Amino acid sequence: MDRKLVLRSFTIASVKSWDVIVIGGGIIGLSLAIALRRRGATVLVVERGEPGREASHAAGGMLVDCLLETPVALQSLATASARMYPEFVHELEIESEMKADLRDQGTILFPDPQHTDDCERLGLTAIKPRQLESELADDQPAFYLRERSVDPRALAAVVLKAAKNLEVDFSSGDAVTAVNLSDSRVAGVSTKKTRFAAENVVNCAGAWSGQIGPQAFPTRPVKGQMLCLVMPSRTLVKHVIRSPKAYLIPRSDGRLLVGATVEEAGFDKRTVPETIQRLHRAALELVPKLRDAKILKDWAGLRPGTPDALPILGATATPGYYVATGHFRDGILLAPITAEVMAVVIEGRTPEHDLTAFSPERFR
Ligand SMILES: Cc1cc2nc3c(=O)[nH]c(=O)nc-3n(C[C@H](O)[C@H](O)[C@H](O)COP(=O)(O)OP(=O)(O)OC[C@H]3O[C@@H](n4cnc5c(N)ncnc54)[C@H](O)[C@@H]3O)c2cc1C
Repeated sequence: MDRKLVLRSFTIASVKSWDVIVIGGGIIGLSLAIALRRRGATVLVVERGEPGREASHAAGGMLVDCLLETPVALQSLATASARMYPEFVHELEIESEMKADLRDQGTILFPDPQHTDDCERLGLTAIKPRQLESELADDQPAFYLRERSVDPRALAAVVLKAAKNLEVDFSSGDAVTAVNLSDSRVAGVSTKKTRFAAENVVNCAGAWSGQIGPQAFPTRPVKGQMLCLVMPSRTLVKHVIRSPKAYLIPRSDGRLLVGATVEEAGFDKRTVPETIQRLHRAALELVPKLRDAKILKDWAGLRPGTPDALPILGATATPGYYVATGHFRDGILLAPITAEVMAVVIEGRTPEHDLTAFSPERFR
């Protein structure tokens, strides 16, 4: 951590100050708080509700790193983040003494028929899917991807515990209502109940990032509905399976997630029974033996979308104000690299990755 940012946390006449305030305790805010703390900064996470309970709680946890599915501009960050994952999780598991269920069985991809040629052109490994997953109904052309998956709920709990063990401070249950300025630079944040002081503030408020001034980031909620089954045997499905109708993500404890819709529905997190039934039918079509699976739960979450489907990362025009949001469908995947590059930016250094495509200035 740059010396400018170190040891600035102090208490004068009971007014405490931090080096950095992170708005939003989702996977992005928590991972960044840890990265900053490890560099010696004092950090306060201000979370409107409970940390880790919004998009990061609703996610499937596929760590998709595939040229076919990832926007070109995001590819190098996606690949870098996917590579960082084993160490990212390992360190957090040590710091938290908890497990995140990182799995590396890989993914079976049934492409949209119109993309089969693209898969071949990209050199993806063609497979006979039933040789890998005997209960699949389909032996149509499929491809194998060396991808990992993680349980985002377990990961969020691990990251939260690690952050607390590393002495990141938390204020939960009170939303940030304003970023405070003094002489045109950041001085902290206000909530309904109080004010917190810091010279650096990072907006990591996910789908809600655009609701906090002084800069209106064009984030919007993109709803995703999901279904969770309990497989009749713990290893009935071992790989992540992606098809145009649905994806299946097994967990090591025998749960299987079936996802997900991508809907423009505002800030509505209700599930729709017909939609959940459609996901259920799609899962049964892929793996007929799932008819013996128990239905555990369904839910919906709000992905932070942006106009160009790319994240918004970097310093803003307001000195001391930063943003890390808009991770849309890849925020779990992108947490390690986002934390790394944003910590470097907040230190005042230039990150190894070119962030031009993600600049908040591109919308001005
Ligand atoms: C159904 C579904 C499936 C998904 N599957 C995957 C997947 O397989 N792989 C993948 O990589 N990604 C996936 N995603 C995307 C991923 O979940 C998101 O990109 C990621 O969780 C975004 O993290 P975040 O921390 O930015 O947002 P969030 O987790 O939403 O956190 C933002 C936090 O900010 C808080 N907040 C908001 N406003 C304020 C305020 N004013 N003051 C204080 N706090 C505030 C919120 O309460 C929230 O806790 C999926 C998402 C959904 C919904």
